[in-house]
Amino acid sequence: AREFHLAARPQGAPGPEHFRLVEAELAQPGPGQLLVRNDVLSVDPYMRGRMNDVKSYVPPFALDAPLEGGAVGTVLASGDAAVPVGASVLHMAGWRDYALIPAKHATVVDTALAPAGRYLGALGVTGLTAWGGLLIAAEFKAGDIVFVSGAAGAVGSLVGQIAKLKGAARVIGSAGGAQKARALTERFGYDAAIDYRAGDLRGQLAQAAPEGIDVYFDNVGGEHLEAALGAARRGGRVALCGAIAQYNDAEPAPGPRNLALAIGKRLTLRGFIVFDYQPRFGEFAAEMAGWLAEGSIEAAETVVHGLENTPEAFLSLFRGANTGKMLIEL
Ligand code: NDP
Repeated sequence: AREFHLAARPQGAPGPEHFRLVEAELAQPGPGQLLVRNDVLSVDPYMRGRMNDVKSYVPPFALDAPLEGGAVGTVLASGDAAVPVGASVLHMAGWRDYALIPAKHATVVDTALAPAGRYLGALGVTGLTAWGGLLIAAEFKAGDIVFVSGAAGAVGSLVGQIAKLKGAARVIGSAGGAQKARALTERFGYDAAIDYRAGDLRGQLAQAAPEGIDVYFDNVGGEHLEAALGAARRGGRVALCGAIAQYNDAEPAPGPRNLALAIGKRLTLRGFIVFDYQPRFGEFAAEMAGWLAEGSIEAAETVVHGLENTPEAFLSLFRGANTGKMLIEL
């Protein structure tokens, strides 16, 4: 078996030198264990935070130990009567081709209902983040004008579509580059698109949302958050989901310069972690499965092939190489 280890902790932007591919010997599963061949792996921006040795809502990756991440694999040998050989399981032993895992940390998924990668994307953590962040954290209601950053990414491409399905008055998205901006309106149902790389984010937002915005779903932080606070209407809500523009900063960036606008505008800024919404996973999954089945949500994916390309797929998230969910197929 082969697995990626964390070879060194990055200062600033990570590179291939921070990962090492290592050969490993796997035993046969004992009682309560599963031997799994991974079929599809997830790489996610939050993994950048786990490369740092700092306390957070998930513990840091250990040096010279296998990296972790979402994966779906096929059970080759089972020490648990409830999980048959041949079943597909969702688990956290990603970044490797084969894994020996405790059965209690694996969830059986039905790949006849949806392809394996969907359980890492729209029907998994990514989808729950979009759904819970918009409907719970941002307290979205029909008639809201919604602005989403990282709007062509895994979470963002779903947020815009969910907002439209739930009756948003107008949905505006921001993404990097003309091609992605076009995808926002042509594939993901956004009413207006901003290419933030073209500059003048504030001016572009004012043009796309002349009446202002009620909800901002923040995947990016920094300048996007500042522009959104400026455009927010009275009583506006901000879901603080991620701040990818800052994940590679060696020094913490100052907060939005216009934060004091939140006072007069009576804004609510609420951070959340997707685990908060786990108790509502069933409700989310039923709704999302329905949308996917009726074709009213497009679950976009960017697929990279081969375990050896996993670090590069992860690193390329920070250059915007993906549209929709970034997956590695083995
Ligand atoms: P994405 O699929 O959105 O991938 C990252 C995208 O971020 C890239 O495609 C790129 O798009 C954009 N990006 C990268 N660097 C920058 C930058 N400097 N400025 C602006 N945009 C940038 O990943 P996810 O959908 O998985 O995650 C989106 C956000 O949600 C992340 O911040 C992540 O950490 C957060 N998250 C939070 C969770 C929570 O529980 N709170 C759970 C899951 C995700 P482009 O080409 O448009 O620049």
